[in-house]
Amino acid sequence: MTNLSKTTFQAALAEGFEVSFEMFPARTEAGRQALCAMARRLEPFGPEYISVTYGAGGSSRDSTIETIKALKAAVSIPICGHLTCSDASREETLEVARIYRELGITHIVALRGDPKAGETVFRAHPQGFANAAELIAALRGTWPDMHISMAAYPEVHPESPSPEADLENLRAKFAAGANEALTQFFFDNGLYRDFLARARAAGIDGQIVPGIMLIQDFFKVRNFARKCQASIPPWLEARFAGVAMDSEEHKLLTAAYAIEQVLDLAACGVRRFHLFTMNKPELAEAICRVLGLARD
Ligand code: FAD
Repeated sequence: MTNLSKTTFQAALAEGFEVSFEMFPARTEAGRQALCAMARRLEPFGPEYISVTYGAGGSSRDSTIETIKALKAAVSIPICGHLTCSDASREETLEVARIYRELGITHIVALRGDPKAGETVFRAHPQGFANAAELIAALRGTWPDMHISMAAYPEVHPESPSPEADLENLRAKFAAGANEALTQFFFDNGLYRDFLARARAAGIDGQIVPGIMLIQDFFKVRNFARKCQASIPPWLEARFAGVAMDSEEHKLLTAAYAIEQVLDLAACGVRRFHLFTMNKPELAEAICRVLGLARD
């Protein structure tokens, strides 16, 4: 999979890498303190930012806001809030963005959100934004200086009629004012490379940062991947076959895979990575060390 030569990696190290971390919000004070401790542990690696997700249908609105507040007080890393427009009017959605701004947040990951539980197709709130492009346009119109990230799908969004339609949606989101895209996780780097090539061929030249799932529990990730329609290659499935979740072997295999994936992308010229931490610091820290981000 990797044909990385030592010289190439030395050159990449010299150019330098950037990482950002994604966390999900904590619902309790103890949980927030644990996330703050994690953020302090990751701070010395100089991440670009930490983003805090927004629960499906806005279900975590308050805990996202409280987690952002706690992280902002704990570390000097820029904090970014995710925001979805499902199950809320335009005004309610923009109100959350206003609260973010009052907290000093100048970076939002703007998303549509998933269909409600039990439904396969998204239905917009009658007074709500119909999709992420509409939300991005409203954020850009209200805050011209806002940094806006958006989602992209190397394996095509599950509701999209075709790869071409999905690329057109990506183009529309850049046109609406997004600064960059963060991808859904993928386990075969060829999917990201092909997606990037298709986007470039279609004249989309904005940044598309790979989202890297740091696997904590392969069997949970496999279920989650099914929901998002992110494929698991047979060779990865085979690696974990018969390996107990709590075993040392499982831990070693997850670390080996994460490092392999990141190094292979580095060999292809990737210099920025968005890491889905699953709120666990160890693998995120290991990746930072591999990418030469450790500071004395
Ligand atoms: P959109 O870009 O609006 O696209 C959704 C679908 O609608 C696509 O199939 C698109 O092709 C289609 N579409 C859009 N506009 C049109 C149009 N005008 N006409 C026809 N079709 C159209 N979810 C959360 O709930 N909270 C989070 O914090 C969160 N964080 C995420 C972070 C990342 C990095 C990623 C990749 C996803 C995240 N998600 C999150 C999941 C996301 O909300 C879902 O994938 C959702 O189903 C789509 O959101 P979107 O912003 O990509 O939607």
